[in-house]
Order: sequence, then structure tokens, then C-alpha cells
Amino acid sequence: MSDFSYKEIYVEDGKRVLEVDVLPEKYCNFDCIFCPIGRTHNKVDTQQSFKEIDSSLKELENMIENYKVELVYINSKGEALLNNRVSHIIDLIKAKGVSVRLLSNGYLLGKEEYIKVANKCDEVIGEIKVITEEDFQKVQRPIEGYNLEEYISNMALFNKQYKGKFIFEVTIIKGYNDDEESIEKIKDIIKKISPNEIIIARMEDERFKKKLGIDDERFKQISNALLNI
Ligand code: SF4
Repeated sequence: MSDFSYKEIYVEDGKRVLEVDVLPEKYCNFDCIFCPIGRTHNKVDTQQSFKEIDSSLKELENMIENYKVELVYINSKGEALLNNRVSHIIDLIKAKGVSVRLLSNGYLLGKEEYIKVANKCDEVIGEIKVITEEDFQKVQRPIEGYNLEEYISNMALFNKQYKGKFIFEVTIIKGYNDDEESIEKIKDIIKKISPNEIIIARMEDERFKKKLGIDDERFKQISNALLNI
């Protein structure tokens, strides 16, 4: 038995990439209404232990060797930093001479213990989806006490000390951040975070696309505006 699950190996920029989910079920510090995985029944921001970790680590090691993996992308059902062995998982991958990319929603990058873990990775992805406090609370339903200002400054402060590649993903959502005023606000957030790379995304999930998706033309306009600042 394994707690981990994998996607088919693929090639990106000439590198063989293994995408691994290190959570057996969803654990997240947010409970976004548009989460493709569904509701967060385990809304936590403290690390959790999982039963099958030893066999999972062995399996990951075998996968890396058997498929001659060059980059492991930790992309999980929720917040991967919440696996209490995430640091060990990263060490294991790095010991094999393989690069690590970690996807986080970014909020926990403000906590000392998680900063240390993320610093071990070659690449870290942080995200933003809505840009007002009201929307953040209403739509992303974070753990009580969280706020948008802290969310942004957590990523900005993390990246100030981070030596790796920080990738910032902005999701454009119809009615929430697709007007001109919002685009200007997102530009300021990007400047504050100062990422090495920006990814502009939109709602692609069929369940949310109709209500929250934006059309190709507007998406192109917004992408151009945000990628050329
Ligand atoms: S942060 Fe990501 S994983 Fe967590 S609830 Fe939101 S969309 Fe889902």
C-alpha cells in the first residue's frame, strides 16, 4: 500500500518529470469553492502523519530509478507541506541528484518550519486567485485568522530569502479579478512578490468554467498585460 499517487511521466524542457501527490486524501489550509478536488474535510495547517509512509518512500525511490526521472514535481491533493515527512521526501529525491519542484498555495511559506522545507526545493510555485479580503474569506475559506495581506507578504518575504526559482501562478476568475482595476492590483502584487516566472491561468475545470471562466480574447489581453510588466 502507498499513500502517494503519480501521474504518467512526461518530458518538459527535455527533462523527464515525475508528478507525485504525497497526500492520501485532501488536506488543505483553504477550502476554495472552486477546488477541483472538492471540499476540505481536513482543514489544517499543522503537519500530519500517514501510516504507509515507509512503503510510499520506497516506491518513490523505485519510480525515480526505474524511469530515470530528472525532476520530481510535488503536486498534491491540497497542501503538500502538510505531510510531516515532506522534508524527508525532498531529501530523498535530492540525494538521487534529482531536482524538486513544490506546489504550495503559498500561505504556509510565511512559517519558519515550512520556509526551511521549501528552501530545499529547486523550484517553488505559489499562487493567488482572488485579490480582495472579502473574496479571499468568502471564496477561498481559509483557516480562521488568515488574511489576504499576510498571504501576499508571506510569499514576498519567502522569495526575498529564497535562492531557487519562485514561480507565481495567478488564476484569472470571471467577476473576481478580471476587470482593469484588479489587473492593476495584480501587477502590484507581482511586483511585491518579484517571482522568477509568472504563470497566468484561468478556470479550466468544466464544473466551474461556465460561471468563472473567461473567454480567450480577454484571457489573452490580461496575460499580455501581466506578463509584460
Ligand atoms: S488551495 Fe488549492 S487545494 Fe486547497 S482548497 Fe484551494 S484549490 Fe483546493
